[in-house]
Amino acid sequence: MTERWVIHLPVSVPDLHRARIFARTAARLLAQLSARIEPGGVTVSTEDQQCVRHWVFCDRPLPDGGGRCALPVDHSSPCARRAPWLNRRR
Ligand SMILES: [Zn+2]
Repeated sequence: MTERWVIHLPVSVPDLHRARIFARTAARLLAQLSARIEPGGVTVSTEDQQCVRHWVFCDRPLPDGGGRCALPVDHSSPCARRAPWLNRRR
């Protein structure tokens, strides 16, 4: 049996941009509560089209092999290493 679970948490926000901001914030807060978050797996969707998912974090591999990008999916700056608050184990 798997130890990985997916939380489906409906929220009311006016658009995709704000849904992504909310999801990033929720992921960061959950990471602080010792939850092991996989940023690359965080997605948002509208309630009536849950099969159409939109990525939240960039998650591209970094060129130096040092992890994955922790910035928002639509960032315009160069990719950056994961923030220390992600995947932190306690
Ligand atoms: Zn990136």
